[in-house]
Amino acid sequence: MEANAVRHPVMISGWAERQAARLDAAPALAPKTKAGCDEVIDCLARNCRNEDEARHVITTVLDEIPRCQNLTAEIASIAREIRPPEQLPDGCSACEVAPGIWAPFVTRELTGGFGSVRCTCPRGRWLAARDRARGGI
Ligand SMILES: [Zn+2]
Repeated sequence: MEANAVRHPVMISGWAERQAARLDAAPALAPKTKAGCDEVIDCLARNCRNEDEARHVITTVLDEIPRCQNLTAEIASIAREIRPPEQLPDGCSACEVAPGIWAPFVTRELTGGFGSVRCTCPRGRWLAARDRARGGI
């Protein structure tokens, strides 16, 4: 990657750029244009909180993804998977199944019977927001 560090002085972290450059190890994946490179850097900066997370994501891409249609979608998806669970807010007594352990769903009586739903506490709402972001329930 060319030295052009002042491109987005605030938005783009040096670590995202450093990690994105590692994609050059995989010619089938590495962006072919500067715009593609910038997109990957932006994606890392958006989805990872620090260089360790970005490094982990890029290592996973290099180790496990031989080719893909949409590199930034893969990066975003891997970043979501590796994100440490402590980012999730704590649950409440309704979804707690053991001290410090919360069920992903709680059973609620809904019209027409019982069903599994996300809890109404901050943790449940966080999970529900993620469901919506993934186009789920
Ligand atoms: Zn709860």
